[in-house]
Amino acid sequence: MLENIRIVLVNTSHTGNIGSAARAMKTMGLKHLYLVDPIHAPDGKASAMAAGAGDVLANAVTVPTLGEAVADCGLVIGTSARSRTHSWPMLEPRESGVKLVTEAEKYPVALVFGRENSGLSNEELQQCHFHVCIPANPDYSSLNLAAAVQTLCYEVRVAWLDANSHPEVEVEYPLNEDLERFYVHLEETLQRTNFIVKNHPGMVMTKLRRLFNRARPEAQELNILRGILASIDKSTKE
Ligand code: SAH
Repeated sequence: MLENIRIVLVNTSHTGNIGSAARAMKTMGLKHLYLVDPIHAPDGKASAMAAGAGDVLANAVTVPTLGEAVADCGLVIGTSARSRTHSWPMLEPRESGVKLVTEAEKYPVALVFGRENSGLSNEELQQCHFHVCIPANPDYSSLNLAAAVQTLCYEVRVAWLDANSHPEVEVEYPLNEDLERFYVHLEETLQRTNFIVKNHPGMVMTKLRRLFNRARPEAQELNILRGILASIDKSTKE
């Protein structure tokens, strides 16, 4: 899935940002970087910021237009720091991660980032199926380009981990009748030890029920509790 996800940076001014974006991508398991008409080709500054993600930088594909970067993509999501895009279908960052990961099973998908000073043009935004805006501080919502790449690539990773997580080991819970038998047993034992006085039981059993129901013991745990009661019964009988 991650193989089919590409990050597109449009007309980037600072090569350092290109390097930082490559690093952000690699930390989240993404490697396909497209540079649309960068102001300067990646240089030493880009390599320095890319650190261990030099391979992502070296394999970056440079194209003259956004159209060429996304021509073979079945889903294109554009990013914007401003909500000027609200006339367009919007996704929350989390939804964008899920959508990219899900659709990447079928075809290449792209996440497009704009210029440091002016973002994506309206024309570029209109080449996208959806827009995503990181809901940052409304008084200062423009993230550094690479920080925005990091944030949205993280959402891709979360969605991917979720899609690939192995179902948890099935837990076996006791039936309600087993729990009821346990409560009866518990009450009898507590009466025998005089923790509960038969004629003045108070609220103890209600509170204990609340405690055990909240903890929701598994079948095996309930067996242990029954075993403890049996051992108390045995030692108080003598
Ligand atoms: N002044 C520009 C901001 C550009 S920031 C503007 O108002 O559009 C550079 C790029 O980082 C943006 O084009 C976008 O791709 C990304 N970015 C920054 N902040 C973002 C946010 N809050 N949500 C989504 N993308 C963001």
